Amino acid sequence: MHTLVFATNNPHKLEEIQAIVPASIHIISLKAAGIDIDIPEPHDSLAENATEKSTTIFRLTGLNCFSEDTGLEVAALHGEPGVKSARYAGEPPNPPKNMEKLLQRLGRQTDRRARFRTVISLILAGREYFFEGVCAGKIIDAPRGEGGFGYDPIFVPEGADRSFGEMSLAEKKEFSHRRKATDQLIAFLASL
Ligand code: IMP
Repeated sequence: MHTLVFATNNPHKLEEIQAIVPASIHIISLKAAGIDIDIPEPHDSLAENATEKSTTIFRLTGLNCFSEDTGLEVAALHGEPGVKSARYAGEPPNPPKNMEKLLQRLGRQTDRRARFRTVISLILAGREYFFEGVCAGKIIDAPRGEGGFGYDPIFVPEGADRSFGEMSLAEKKEFSHRRKATDQLIAFLASL
């Protein structure tokens, strides 16, 4: 049995990861660990931001923990919004405004290719390990669906004809960047 604190305040990420990990991995949310802080994401790469989050929580608790940082990388926008995905339209983070800005910047561009990329930083017995998951797909012309979070309503993964916003949690899991990164984390823990 592994017990890990998940360094996030995002309830959607917590819900998605809880639905992926087996019973042999016990996830403790920041709330359950009694930690109420806004963890900064000041860096220019997903990996550095993930490290910032996991090391912050490790310093506070001394417990094994992990974090993840995710970005949406749009080919025609040279990888934007990428590591700036959460605050693409400015402070405070606003998902509808972020989607609106992205759709506006893409305009009538015919190259709609995009991908979500998740980097997980795991701190186990004081050592750090990284895992990555990618989901390729495309940006559609207008938001579709009420499910998910963030950019889900405007992203259709490869092999699907519906947006993440139109999918259930279980359906999104089939394609998800977060699920792929978490699968690697699970395999690593199982190999110890
Ligand atoms: P962060 O990893 O918390 O910094 O999230 C970056 C941004 O990407 C936020 O605006 C999230 O809403 C968005 N985001 C992260 N993961 C997903 C996802 O699975 N689907 C849609 N948007 C996401």
